[in-house]
Amino acid sequence: HAKANGRNNYQFFKEAMNLTAARHFELESSLRGALAANEFELYFQPIMDIGTRRLHAMEVLLRWRRGGASGELVTPDQFIPIIEENGMIVPIGEWVIREACRQSKVWQSQGMTPVPLAVNLSPRQFMHRGLVESIRAILDETGIDPALIEFEITETALMQHGEQTLEILGHINAMGIRLSIDDFGTGYSSLAYLKRFPVKKIKIDRAFIKDLEQSAEDRAIVAAIIALSDSLQLSVVAEGVETEGQYALLQQHGCQYAQGYLFSQPVPHITAQLLLPRT
Ligand code: C2E
Ligand code: MG
Ligand code: MG
Ligand code: MG
Repeated sequence: HAKANGRNNYQFFKEAMNLTAARHFELESSLRGALAANEFELYFQPIMDIGTRRLHAMEVLLRWRRGGASGELVTPDQFIPIIEENGMIVPIGEWVIREACRQSKVWQSQGMTPVPLAVNLSPRQFMHRGLVESIRAILDETGIDPALIEFEITETALMQHGEQTLEILGHINAMGIRLSIDDFGTGYSSLAYLKRFPVKKIKIDRAFIKDLEQSAEDRAIVAAIIALSDSLQLSVVAEGVETEGQYALLQQHGCQYAQGYLFSQPVPHITAQLLLPRT
């Protein structure tokens, strides 16, 4: 009996694996033409100044309109791992940077006051030698003020390929683009790196914000990260802020910025522009 069961479990496992592999393959092949078919869109999520409750910046978040205009909207967790693995993140990531700069210029030309746009960079993009050159080309081409662009990098990305990453970040920093550490507290958290890398901002991972009201431990961790940021003169953003209670606690602890569903979900450019002040 146990043997039969074992076989059934194995059979089940095999089918689940095949399904995942099939799904993966299917996604991967439709992703191949997605960039050329213009199926990617940028969404924007406000990052608020806690003190004034005003817009401080916006994070740029990639979306895939699979199959074109009337297709389903696919979120990054479903396709970023695939394009990271097969290297398509390099051209797609470059498109994200260019499109963010272009959008900022469009808003400026329409009389809106721009806020900094924070673009995510993934580890694979750092392994690509041409990254610095393509950023430089995009800045030239769009004429954007580099102070209006920020890059978010996770701790894990910083730790991989240490020296090469350090060199690349140095070049990016020299161009006047600010760097922040994303999902802080979930990676290696080797604090020595905060000193070595030219980072200006820390984003506290949502995992520490979620139970802030219930958990004294999470409050202690968040307070410690804020204190650390203060003493290193780094700005600090709390991610995933969903309640007024969390907001009030962050304010009490002296956190500068907050991002989360309490203010807005990520929205398309049409909606995002309504949040921008006019000059
Ligand atoms: P991230 O950079 O940490 O972005 C924040 C994620 O948290 C976003 O998910 C956002 O929608 C979500 N979020 C924001 N506020 C809340 C909240 O209050 N509650 C909850 N539950 N979630 C919240 P999204 O857009 O699905 O992106 C997931 C991840 O995909 C990003 O995490 C980032 O690592 C990656 N990603 C997104 N766009 C890009 C891109 O253009 N390039 C690269 N390399 N990675 C990207
Ligand atoms: Mg991010
Ligand atoms: Mg994050
Ligand atoms: Mg993340």
